[in-house]
Amino acid sequence: MTWMNWTSRALCAAALLCTSSAFAASPFAEGMISITLDDGWSTQYSLARPALKSRNIPATYYLVTDAVAQGWGGYMSLAQVQTLKAEGNEIASHTRTHSDLTSLTPAQLTSELHDSRTWLQTNVGATCGKDFASPYGAYNATVMTALKTEYASHRTINAGRNFKDTVIYELRANDVSSAVTVAQVKGWINQAIAEKSWLIILFHEFTSSTPTRETQYRTTNFTNILNYVQSTGIRTVTVEQGLALTDGLTEAPPSVGTVVYDDAMGSGFQNWSWATHDLDQSVTVHSGSTAVSFEPDYWEALMFHHSGLDLSLYQSIDLWVHGGTTGGQQVRLALYNGGTPLGSISLETALGHPISAGTWQKVSIPLSALGATSGTVDDFYVMDESGSDQGTLYVDDFVLVP
Ligand SMILES: [Zn+2]
Repeated sequence: MTWMNWTSRALCAAALLCTSSAFAASPFAEGMISITLDDGWSTQYSLARPALKSRNIPATYYLVTDAVAQGWGGYMSLAQVQTLKAEGNEIASHTRTHSDLTSLTPAQLTSELHDSRTWLQTNVGATCGKDFASPYGAYNATVMTALKTEYASHRTINAGRNFKDTVIYELRANDVSSAVTVAQVKGWINQAIAEKSWLIILFHEFTSSTPTRETQYRTTNFTNILNYVQSTGIRTVTVEQGLALTDGLTEAPPSVGTVVYDDAMGSGFQNWSWATHDLDQSVTVHSGSTAVSFEPDYWEALMFHHSGLDLSLYQSIDLWVHGGTTGGQQVRLALYNGGTPLGSISLETALGHPISAGTWQKVSIPLSALGATSGTVDDFYVMDESGSDQGTLYVDDFVLVP
């Protein structure tokens, strides 16, 4: 397939087809920026707060509430959090203990979500704890369902920008780790102004000397960023204020997305599959008139090719699978940019259980779970990873969700 890759690249470069605008992002009246600070580190109060306050820039603090309630070393005190609130900042939730929410029992998940919110409301103010950010940016369908019952929004750590029609439970944010330069952040700000999008950036700890951890940011760089924010005049908002200007979409409309396959290959996709397969199989169908059947045997794969899709425009991949008469197939979804692997996950892991026989199941995979939230994707593989002969598997309604 080398020559095909080469040809598609040459065409891509010639025709500028590389950046595919897959959905119509709707701009705001003007560009906006939110400064968000995670975990509740005490250096946020001692080093970031003075710089923000002197410039009248409000921020959103996502707090680990047990750290404040129990006085963990290195974290802000309750009195400091109350001061931030009184000064017009937003106080939001980042769970009780900073657990990976995808690894908890239902009772633990409820406690992390519910108890952190009620603690903030009781101790800091009734208007606190409306918005949420998941620790490590780790979430799945179970976490999403639960957090929607407690919170008005969810900020991820998936890089990118937000628009009026962004799903407010999958807000994108750019992590300003120690290696991110002031020039990079200025570039993001310029982009937000130019396209009238909403840029959310996130920080952890601050230091007035050289950072020794990826999660520390140098205070002088922080103040340079804030000076640039002021010089451009970009609107500064808390997450709560930014949300009020969105359309408030709580999930992607079903019509939105880039179809890889529904009853046929989606627009711009080519079928490069080498496993035994049938794209027009009409007996076992999830929706419409046909679904894909294929034999996931001996490392063979379905392979769907598209030249240059911009992953930063998407949040997740949805597809439906049916395990046929056997179920339990060992199959992996993998994304590639030409020969370069971008990320992969077994469908069993994504589902949280083996693929079932005799029924359709939706597999919803956040791009963050694939470790591939930006860059360009060309190839989507659904691939045998058993190395043996497995039962027929069915795939339908395979969509990239913005
Ligand atoms: Zn955190």
